[in-house]
Amino acid sequence: MISEKMSVMVKNSSVTRAMFEEGKRLAAIYGKENVYDFSLGNPSVAPPASVKEAVVDIITNEDTTFLHGYMNNSGYEDVREKIADKLNKVHQTSFHSENIIMTVGAAGGLNVILKTLLNPGEEVVVFAPFFGEYRNYADNYDGKLVVISPDKETFLPNLKELEEKLTSSAKAVIINTPNNPTGVVYSEETIKELSKVLEKKQQEFGTSIYLISDEPYRELVYGDVFVPYVTKYYRNTIVGYSYSKSLSLPGERIGYLVIPSEVDEYEEIFAAAGVATRILGFVNAPSMIQRVVASCLDSEVDVSVYNENRELLYNSLTEYGYSCAKPQGAFYLFVKTLEEDDKAFCERAKKYNILVVPGSAFGCPGYCRIAYCVGKSTIEGALPGFRKLYEEYRE
Ligand code: PLP
Repeated sequence: MISEKMSVMVKNSSVTRAMFEEGKRLAAIYGKENVYDFSLGNPSVAPPASVKEAVVDIITNEDTTFLHGYMNNSGYEDVREKIADKLNKVHQTSFHSENIIMTVGAAGGLNVILKTLLNPGEEVVVFAPFFGEYRNYADNYDGKLVVISPDKETFLPNLKELEEKLTSSAKAVIINTPNNPTGVVYSEETIKELSKVLEKKQQEFGTSIYLISDEPYRELVYGDVFVPYVTKYYRNTIVGYSYSKSLSLPGERIGYLVIPSEVDEYEEIFAAAGVATRILGFVNAPSMIQRVVASCLDSEVDVSVYNENRELLYNSLTEYGYSCAKPQGAFYLFVKTLEEDDKAFCERAKKYNILVVPGSAFGCPGYCRIAYCVGKSTIEGALPGFRKLYEEYRE
């Protein structure tokens, strides 16, 4: 017998699981190359060559007992120091190793910080559309997810509704910019406005509201887009970062949390996050890949490949008549479905062997997410189907 809580979680993950099964089923019938799977955010661009070079160098030259051993729960001290230095150089901040905790990807980091902060019933505020796992992560620690409804014109955070919905039980607000699933990047102005609302509510309630900035897509931006470093605008900010997308290493499970010294109760939070890392069963982030990313802090994946996909898909779909905002970052397009029932629309897309995720999985029905981290041939192969699907709805 599995637990009641898990029963609910298993039931709710069935959309993605069903999609995965459907992809396999269609591939068996039509051949893998004739199935256009846009359902997963799995990077299609290879990690930079420096990653392989670092793996070889580290495994050849470092002391293996040290390399594969246990360490401090927060990660290797020298790795954390290098990351802090890099952040300081890029963002003019003043972090040091005691502000960084190495995590098992962004997912691990979010779980660590929510375990650290949440009492049962305390609120975690998210802006729809949002990465669906936030609901599970909050639920893991008996937090209550509060969803702010989407601004469907801009997909920027609805700050008026935030102000109305924040209560004295609000412990954390999560933002994700560049955003999954919309590709929207929050401007400096937006971050400042958001900070004002949070400051005001902290004062009003006499509480601390932690802003968790979930940033796995920070470097995946197109053109001259500025992604503000949120700790500079709001004192109680904690950043969750990951190398899953920025270095195309999602299976390696590596990222970090930044807990600035200025946040309320910094010392308790930093110490508790180390303990949370241990007792969640991570113990510490994987050792070898910590040292690898520390050697690759100046490396990047070739974002131009995603940019080409973005241009091709956005230009083609809008030409056919679909409506969506042009993403500034990440590798997703959030497209208005051609009927209100987004699940029915995604079902109908399967007729053309096209797999996309309903917006309701992100708390925003009436849309679907197309992950364009795929080979160009997948997009080219899918375009005639997208066109026919549009025409079918017009008949
Ligand atoms: N946050 C967002 C917004 C994501 O899109 C993802 C993964 O797709 C994650 C967190 C989890 O990333 P990681 O693989 O680093 O755990």
